[in-house]
Amino acid sequence: MSVALKDIDLEKFQQAIDVEIKHQYIDIEGRYCCFSKFVMGELKQIYKNSKKAPRWLVLIEAFKRYSMETMPVRKKLIERLVKCLRDELYKKEEPSKSNSGEYSKNPEDTDVIYIKGVGPKVGFLFNKMNIFTAQDLISYYPKKYIDYSQRTKICNLKIGENVTVFGYIKSCSVYNTKNKKNLSIMKLQVEDETGVIAINFFWAKASRGLMERYKAQFPVNKAIIISGTVKKDSYSGKLTLDKTTYQLAGADFEENSSLNLGRIVPVYPLIERMNAKTLRSAISNALNQFADSMENILPDEVIREYNLCAKNIALKQIHFPDDMEALERARYTLVFEELFLLQLKLIVFREENNKHLTSIPISIAPDGLVNKFIKNLPFELTNSQKKAVQEILADLNSDKPMQRLLQGDVGSGKTVVALIMLLSAIENGYQTAIMAPTEILAQQHYNNIIKWLTPLGLSCSLFKGTNTKKQRDAIETNLQNGQTHIAIGTHALIQENIHFKNLGAIVIDEQHRFGVNQRNKLRNKGMCPQVLTMSATPIPRTLALTVHGDMDITVINERPKGRLPIKTTLIKASARKSAYELIEKEIENGHQAYIVYPLIEESETISAKAATAEWERISQKVFPQYKIGLLHGKLAADEKDAVMNDFKNGKYQILVSTTVVEVGVDVANATVIMIENAERFGLSQLHQLRGRVGRSNMQSYCILVASTVNEQTAERLNVMTQTNDGFVIAEKDLQLRGPGDFLGTRQSGLPELLITDLTKDLPILEQARKAAVEYYNSSQFNPQCKLYKLVMPKREEPQE
Ligand code: ADP
Ligand code: MG
Repeated sequence: MSVALKDIDLEKFQQAIDVEIKHQYIDIEGRYCCFSKFVMGELKQIYKNSKKAPRWLVLIEAFKRYSMETMPVRKKLIERLVKCLRDELYKKEEPSKSNSGEYSKNPEDTDVIYIKGVGPKVGFLFNKMNIFTAQDLISYYPKKYIDYSQRTKICNLKIGENVTVFGYIKSCSVYNTKNKKNLSIMKLQVEDETGVIAINFFWAKASRGLMERYKAQFPVNKAIIISGTVKKDSYSGKLTLDKTTYQLAGADFEENSSLNLGRIVPVYPLIERMNAKTLRSAISNALNQFADSMENILPDEVIREYNLCAKNIALKQIHFPDDMEALERARYTLVFEELFLLQLKLIVFREENNKHLTSIPISIAPDGLVNKFIKNLPFELTNSQKKAVQEILADLNSDKPMQRLLQGDVGSGKTVVALIMLLSAIENGYQTAIMAPTEILAQQHYNNIIKWLTPLGLSCSLFKGTNTKKQRDAIETNLQNGQTHIAIGTHALIQENIHFKNLGAIVIDEQHRFGVNQRNKLRNKGMCPQVLTMSATPIPRTLALTVHGDMDITVINERPKGRLPIKTTLIKASARKSAYELIEKEIENGHQAYIVYPLIEESETISAKAATAEWERISQKVFPQYKIGLLHGKLAADEKDAVMNDFKNGKYQILVSTTVVEVGVDVANATVIMIENAERFGLSQLHQLRGRVGRSNMQSYCILVASTVNEQTAERLNVMTQTNDGFVIAEKDLQLRGPGDFLGTRQSGLPELLITDLTKDLPILEQARKAAVEYYNSSQFNPQCKLYKLVMPKREEPQE
């Protein structure tokens, strides 16, 4: 046993780590303290025993941050911890600096402190950036590049061009606006040998102290490199830069301008006390030491076919590109590799999981239930719907159960398609189920479906939390003896005591609102049922392929004939009166209206209060002549249902609501929706809300009321006024918010991607996916190949 590990109960340590991993890195509370504290205690002992080997200190520091880190970082920290312990256990001698270059060819095994020019002090800072090994350092990719050859002199600026100016700070001042806009402004004057340019930075009103601190970052005469788009300042009439990024240059600037003016220089995200020069040289040293011994992960055929470059070249060029072309190819290669691996893993995962699943192929008869149903529909299916039906029927007619995601904009007619899939199963003698996230939605599916199914002689039952015991018993009996053809409900459907006779197909509506467990529970109520999941929240294809890469995806991107695009306007709160006029006009024409308030401070209680107050104001002051309903999340389920039904039946002309009205609610007679505080909503959510209207052939309207509008919000909200296409809006939303926020949670199953930008790398993703499918199906992919081991899911080791 190594000296460092004496006094340490390794078994206990191992156990703690296992438990933490099993609980998804929640910094689990143990008997005496939380996980990270326990780890720090043990590490301190090891550190002491090891005569203060720096790697342990570094690890202690890292675990101080554990509880504040995101899940992927925590995972990484634990991997690091395990690795260090393992190394210590098998007593690899700590390599000394003097013989560096000899000890390891593997960057993953090399602690970052042994990179030339790093050492414990800098290593410490690297650790804070979650860089622990040479590998981490090499894959710390630049955030952007400054092309030092593209320098533009201030006298040569032209409106609309993207430029980079090198200059010195001439002055910097901060002040607040006097008007009501509540902005703080910093005015920066930058000068080069040809002229001066003033650039304004805006932010929400800040304290004097904070503003002074901002200002202090821009000392006069400091060198600065600033990039942006040239535009005319509307106030001064002079040229200025918009959408700027800057870098204070210091010594770096002079060095580069004298050394290497023609060079493209990488810019990395930095933290306090880490400077760009140190980082760059450390990366350069790591590359010199390791890059050439790094083998290609991608198969040679793939590299050749897709015109990629070798891994070592890609790594060198991504950090220190010779020119733009080389940079592009390097990036293409690295993104391709990342996505190829991911897609291959998804394919393998799916195939491995499905290997043992078989289902009896389902086919439909020309004069069977399905065709009768389609013939009896009061409308013709759109081409998109027909295509979706074809894809689904093809899936059903195979011995692998269907796992398909049906994506379609609100109102695109997904329900009919889903019903056709269920009817196919019913035609073949199975029972079916639909699970929806809310009672309102379940109720609505039920109402629509009985209308369609009763003429076909089918029976359908609704599971509600509010059913009486007697009702429940009756429903359960019918389900169990096979009399019920379609069971509809919320997660009430997955309760233990609910049994089907032979569940053959299920539909999960708004699937992202359910956890994997809930979906599986429903699935397990049958023998390998066919599964169709649906989502009315379009997600961009890059995300769909990354997060749902293990499902087949069908998109309905067409709305039923005759639907007019919803007219959307953006108004200021002060112009609210015009919105009320429009609402009045619509109501006088016999239509109905929604007025929606956002969730304030993530609290249903507070927003329910806000909506209630508004409801009072509107009922008493604005529209005393109309009947007005109120819907919010604090109402009991049956109260909600009652309000919704009353609105549907025309008892209310206006429905004041929080966002509970968001998903799927269908009242065709509603033609106008007014959304208050629109700036608080994400674009996708606004689009969802807007989908509450435009559900018939009447012209519908959406009025977005914004209380505070800066340039950014206006740009964002204007997307809504320009398009009705949910997929376009989703793309934009993704660009603005990034994948993590777009999907809602940080732990939404989004894999860690080091270099891929899901907002713009769709073309590479498509190529990489294609390559991965081809490779998977080829003879190259076999248990002997390197990649096979890399992507095969690790077998769970039996737990003792
Ligand atoms: P989604 O669930 O995709 O939001 P729905 O399935 O609720 O949309 O359909 C919206 C409305 O359009 C429903 O009233 C439905 O009956 C109707 N509908 C569906 N398909 C068509 C079609 N091809 N032509 C006309 N109306 C349709
Ligand atoms: Mg729907």
